[in-house]
Amino acid sequence: MQPFAYLRADRIEDAIAASGPDARFLAGGTNLVDLMKSEVERPLRIVDISRLPLDRITETREGGVRIGALVPNADCANHPLVRERHPLLSRALLSGASPQLRNMATTGGNLLQRTRCYYFMDAAFDACNKRRPGSGCAAREGRNRIHAILGASEQCIATHPSDMAVALAALEAVVEVHGPRGARRMPMEDFHRLPGATPQRDTTLEPAELVVAVEIPPGSFARASTYLKVRDRASYAFALVSVAAALDLRDGRVHEARIALGGVAHKPWRAREAEALLRGATPGEAAFDAAARASVAGARPYRDNAFKVTLAQRTVARALRVAAGIA
Ligand SMILES: Cc1cc2nc3c(=O)[nH]c(=O)nc-3n(C[C@H](O)[C@H](O)[C@H](O)COP(=O)(O)OP(=O)(O)OC[C@H]3O[C@@H](n4cnc5c(N)ncnc54)[C@H](O)[C@@H]3O)c2cc1C
Ligand code: SF4
Repeated sequence: MQPFAYLRADRIEDAIAASGPDARFLAGGTNLVDLMKSEVERPLRIVDISRLPLDRITETREGGVRIGALVPNADCANHPLVRERHPLLSRALLSGASPQLRNMATTGGNLLQRTRCYYFMDAAFDACNKRRPGSGCAAREGRNRIHAILGASEQCIATHPSDMAVALAALEAVVEVHGPRGARRMPMEDFHRLPGATPQRDTTLEPAELVVAVEIPPGSFARASTYLKVRDRASYAFALVSVAAALDLRDGRVHEARIALGGVAHKPWRAREAEALLRGATPGEAAFDAAARASVAGARPYRDNAFKVTLAQRTVARALRVAAGIA
């Protein structure tokens, strides 16, 4: 492991001042430390943020839920406000990693975890534009079973691994960030980015910007919602495909729908076209199958992952049936 300086920050301002392009924030350490050991991440400075006062879940004045960046994933999944108002988020969190990891992993760290692309995770492979810009993409011609089918680029076909991010995308959460130029808020949809020509950037965060919280606005999606994750093992595995689905049902019709997919793109993939199809529809197989087909419109599979197109459609249709209570 490359030598690095270690600093522990007690105040948000100190953490931001101590950070920069060569530094990394350390929260639970469950992703960063692994990547440092394998020399995928080589920061010169580690800014330990684990003591910052960002570990609370509170209700906002508007009736939303505010989750601090350092709330452990396990606490978030089990918090009464999350369980009662956003069971979809609770399910997503509990489907991720293992109990021990969920005790350490934090909100901010979960959203900022790096891809699980084999060629990114192993520094022995030279060609990885995300790890070494301009070096190529070993996954395009290599093993690409777990890779993206939507929104990929010539430079990178990696997927984002977070379950929590998929649920937060469907719930239209807002991410609050503090940085050298002050505070800003952005919709979850604008937080992660597609790879384009700069796959080394997973998010729209600037150097030294710190995630302080995510806020879920009040909504009417609690009851008719679910998170469905399909993976190679029943637990302790990342999603091949996952779906966060939430329906606002009124008078026997779909008033509004939210669908986000995980495991298929470089960011949580919001299926807007499918959502539009469902608006005003009678909940049932015909409407849900049409939405499922629309949710993978434009999919472009690679050698080993064509199965994901069918899998994603079936998972969307099933998630909608479960959410509507007709599974
Ligand atoms: C074996 C294994 C299985 C797993 N399975 C799953 C799974 O199924 N689903 C899933 O979603 N996840 C899974 N994970 C990933 C796990 O959820 C992440 O490792 C964890 O959420 C990262 O959180 P952390 O607090 O430990 O982050 P850290 O490792 O401390 O940090 C991760 C990154 O985020 C940055 N960071 C942390 N906090 C902030 C902040 N507040 N602001 C700005 N930057 C920040 C760090 O600088 C670093 O770059 C798994 C992990 C392992 C090891
Ligand atoms: S898919 Fe992205 S992360 Fe994987 S090898 Fe290609 S450039 Fe690297």
